[in-house]
Amino acid sequence: MNPSAREILLIKTGELALKGLNRGTFEAILMKNLRYRLRPLGPCTLRKAQSAIYVEPEGPAFDMDEACDRVAKVFGIAAFSRACVVEKEIGAICEAAASYLRDDLLAAKTFKVEAKRSDKAFPLQSPAICEQAGGYLLEKYPHLTVDVHHPELLVMVEIRDFGAYIHARQLPGAGGMPVGSAGRAGLLISGGIDSPVAGYMMAKRGVELCGIHFASPPYTSERAEGKVIALLEKVAAYAGHIDLHIVPFTRIQEEIQRSCPEDLFTIIMRRFMMRIATQIGQAEDCGALITGESVGQVASQTIPALACTDAAAGLPVFRPLIGMDKEEIIAVSRRIDTFDISIQPYEDCCTVFTPRHPRTRPKLAKVLEAEAALDAEALISEAVQNVRRRLI
Ligand code: ATP
Ligand code: MG
Repeated sequence: MNPSAREILLIKTGELALKGLNRGTFEAILMKNLRYRLRPLGPCTLRKAQSAIYVEPEGPAFDMDEACDRVAKVFGIAAFSRACVVEKEIGAICEAAASYLRDDLLAAKTFKVEAKRSDKAFPLQSPAICEQAGGYLLEKYPHLTVDVHHPELLVMVEIRDFGAYIHARQLPGAGGMPVGSAGRAGLLISGGIDSPVAGYMMAKRGVELCGIHFASPPYTSERAEGKVIALLEKVAAYAGHIDLHIVPFTRIQEEIQRSCPEDLFTIIMRRFMMRIATQIGQAEDCGALITGESVGQVASQTIPALACTDAAAGLPVFRPLIGMDKEEIIAVSRRIDTFDISIQPYEDCCTVFTPRHPRTRPKLAKVLEAEAALDAEALISEAVQNVRRRLI
């Protein structure tokens, strides 16, 4: 690389550009999230201008490969490029393009230069920049030919506020909205495939996550809890930090099993989950709850069962997977790298007590009648008082 050239990340915000007057707020959240995600890599400067954000490393120790991996998981970004920045002078631009993109230029047979001049004070217009840079590259790499329609390599030259930027390819961003721009919600997270995907999908819409997990020791092992933590660590690569609440659920499950009809066990248990999650959510400033339910997947996910579950929730319940097939959910879980963790075999609290013949069309009146056998208030407040917390 040209010694006067520096490598930076040039980030293009996507849907954010549509947000009109709120745009400033959204961009500020995105900048904060980027800073948080890049901080472990060492000092770097973040600047924003002209619907782009610039990440400029402050030293050679800053790991650009790792930075790209991290930036690719930050919501609110449409696309980004690794670019080299040089002074806004055509000679320097040509030299930098030839050396910075050397490997790409050697590997390609055809190329094209595209220029964008957002700094209108730059003396050359875009076609002249393309012509001069293209001519220089042809001279340096005589095996190349120009193909304006389908070039193997597209060399981008952008003349912006702080300098001239040269890059070859644009990498896709994670899309969505910056986490925190759409408030906070409590994610009911089991050890399964679905709930981490549900959390990822809501985080993509800008929702900050607060984790809620129901554990039933000794029926569920410490390893089941470890699995939930490992899953949330994967989700946190996209969603930012997650405050996990671990709720002791054994006593409630035992009481339901002892005092309620077996065929209503699951639905009553799920209603307890909702009530506890509502209390935790309200205390944690959450405006909604999130589950990984999908219509018809299991007995507790029929429409009548979901209606009974909803009736116990004091916050709106978001179910982003509601209309997805298992295969579609699995495809997302593979992409976000939670699948292999999810399929580890440790029992979660639902499987331990699952009835042989769960009711698929429960009637709320019957469920309420069955619940009357329990001192729900006391059980819930005992569970809430004994919640353990862990920051992911
Ligand atoms: P998953 O793959 O997420 O475990 P599932 O298909 O196994 O989902 P259920 O076990 O019926 O379905 O759970 C439905 C939803 O209820 C889960 O997606 C999750 O949001 C919530 N849930 C289930 N078990 C727990 C738990 N132990 N702690 C917190 N939430 C849970
Ligand atoms: Mg489950």
